Amino acid sequence: MSTTGQIIRCKAAVAWEAGKPLVMEEVEVAPPQKHEVRIKILFTSLCHTDVYFWEAKGQTPLFPRIFGHEAGGIVESIGEGVTDLAPGDHVLPIFTGECGDCRHCHSEESNMCDLLRINTERGGMIHDGESRFSIDGKPIYHFVGTSTFSEYTVVHSGQVAKINPEAPLDKVCIVSCGLSTGLGATLNVAKPKKGQSVAIFGLGAVGLAAAEGARMAGAGRIIGVDLNPKRFEEAKKFGVTEFVNPKDHDKPVQQVIAEMTDGGVDRSVECTGSVQAMIQAFECVHDGWGVAVLVGVPSKDDAFKTHPMNFLNERTLKGTFFGNYKPKTDIPGVVEQYMNKELEVEKFITHTVPFSEINKAFDYMLKGEGIRCIITMGA
Ligand code: NAD
Ligand code: ZN
Repeated sequence: MSTTGQIIRCKAAVAWEAGKPLVMEEVEVAPPQKHEVRIKILFTSLCHTDVYFWEAKGQTPLFPRIFGHEAGGIVESIGEGVTDLAPGDHVLPIFTGECGDCRHCHSEESNMCDLLRINTERGGMIHDGESRFSIDGKPIYHFVGTSTFSEYTVVHSGQVAKINPEAPLDKVCIVSCGLSTGLGATLNVAKPKKGQSVAIFGLGAVGLAAAEGARMAGAGRIIGVDLNPKRFEEAKKFGVTEFVNPKDHDKPVQQVIAEMTDGGVDRSVECTGSVQAMIQAFECVHDGWGVAVLVGVPSKDDAFKTHPMNFLNERTLKGTFFGNYKPKTDIPGVVEQYMNKELEVEKFITHTVPFSEINKAFDYMLKGEGIRCIITMGA
């Protein structure tokens, strides 16, 4: 009863309109074309980026669309020219890819692949611009090439990381976006030395993953900065020992942190998307050696303003995308770090819902409740 080469009918949660609850529909999923694979999704989770594009406030709206990009599943079939993946492989689809062939993929320093870099405006597949999803012959758009809120999805093989089949997909699915982004921002970009102090701005999933990176790197002090005091309780599980709520102080946060740390933190990682927090995260690092890393996605019209003297005084500002990880090359290794018990994944998972109740995951995110909600397909 092979489904290879055939259309698969399955359930998908379709966003018909911006900001309206997703609707469970029966969709048709076409077979994978050249360089594509079709994946049976087993677990997916909700990330803030899905919510931004579903709300479509600052973004170009594209509907009807199937969202979802943090997920784990099993390859069902492969298209022409796919040589590194086979049916049965356990995989994580990833919102940004690695073609293996461009200047970025050849560079040790970059993960910004020319061909498969994240593109939130595209609603079809790169091969032919068409969608692989339809209802009664009408196309439903893809989202960042992954569209994991569907029991089956089609993804470019350059956006698929093959992982250890023993890794529990209901846990490691979150490695495919938020967790790796924050973790890599600290481990690959901020690179704190043992015993150094690290400030984390924004204690959502990405910021807490950055804190997890600081813990793994042996940071001496991890200072959490957030406007939402509810976040502080959760953050204790992540080794965040000191908290600063900018609302509790009359002085600028930079000054509060400088006073706490004898002149500034050694490293800071910004995971908020607020341009004020980005400036604060830069200005609170110590002169002479401090490094600040920006991760949050700013609004369209934001501008970063600081006095150039802050740079002359030997502070460094960096930014990163997906924690500088190359998705196919590096992500299987992050899963191994979890399997070797170096990386703790369970503490990020605060809620679980069956696929039929996916809208609850949106409610939790909108209320700022919990960290990650796992959505179980087929339930
Ligand atoms: P989240 O909403 O769960 O967490 C953000 C936290 O920042 C919240 O707790 C909020 O209270 C706090 N915050 C907001 N403004 C603040 C301010 N001025 N000062 C201090 N705290 C403030 O979001 P998340 O899922 O953790 O994502 C964080 C950011 O990372 C988002 O902007 C997201 O788009 C971005 N992101 C970037 C990448 C990348 O590759 N660069 C990948 C994924 C997500
Ligand atoms: Zn490339």
